[in-house]
Amino acid sequence: MRTQIVAGNWKMNKTMSETEVLLSELSAKVPDTHAQVIVAPTFVNLVSAKNSLESSTIQVAAQNMHFADNGAFTGEISADMLLDIGLDTVILGHSERRSLFGEDDALLAKKMNTAIEKGMTAIFCFGEELDDRKSGNHFSVVENQLKEALFHLEEKAWSQIVLAYEPVWAIGTGETASPEQAQEMHAFIRKTIAEAYNDGIANNVSILYGGSVKPGNAADIFSKPDVDGGLIGGASLKADDFIAIIKAI
Ligand code: PGA
Repeated sequence: MRTQIVAGNWKMNKTMSETEVLLSELSAKVPDTHAQVIVAPTFVNLVSAKNSLESSTIQVAAQNMHFADNGAFTGEISADMLLDIGLDTVILGHSERRSLFGEDDALLAKKMNTAIEKGMTAIFCFGEELDDRKSGNHFSVVENQLKEALFHLEEKAWSQIVLAYEPVWAIGTGETASPEQAQEMHAFIRKTIAEAYNDGIANNVSILYGGSVKPGNAADIFSKPDVDGGLIGGASLKADDFIAIIKAI
């Protein structure tokens, strides 16, 4: 049985006081669930978020990190800094990191190496752009992203990896992949991993869907056999919406 996960990527939203308000609402309302619930506030609020969720089942993740241990990397955050504040989960390769901050699969391979070496869990995001889907290249684009950033990793690294398939055309656009499109791609991802590694690894890795998941569509998307939860952006910023999505799993 794969781990089911609902993770909220808060992106560059919420001040510290707003973070406190949202977290107290979430802690009060979070249902008893078999799924892992994760929130990823912005860096400056990770310590306070961690403290306010101390007695909650909700876990905290970072939205990004650098691959280097330390040094002259102005504005960056290292794995050791995250681990030191009690955080062992990091989102890597989000499409906004790729498109706005120039992160490519070669860089992400290095970040993955660091996350794995440090014993962290990496939520690795990837997915095709609209043009790729229109031209029918979405499967090869996705296969390539996996190959370039992940397939050099040893088998044992896969226990520390969560995948988040996020078609770029569905992120923040209100347009969601249909449950069938999500299932089709998730099954393809599993098949690709089985070919590169083996069935065991392919069947054990959790694959989340991300891109305009809302209370109204979450249950249908999560009902698909190869969809193990969601990475939620906009709808994770409102307690009632995020709670409804958690209930949908
Ligand atoms: P969205 O974002 O739910 O707002 O589309 C998803 C994401 O960026 O992870």
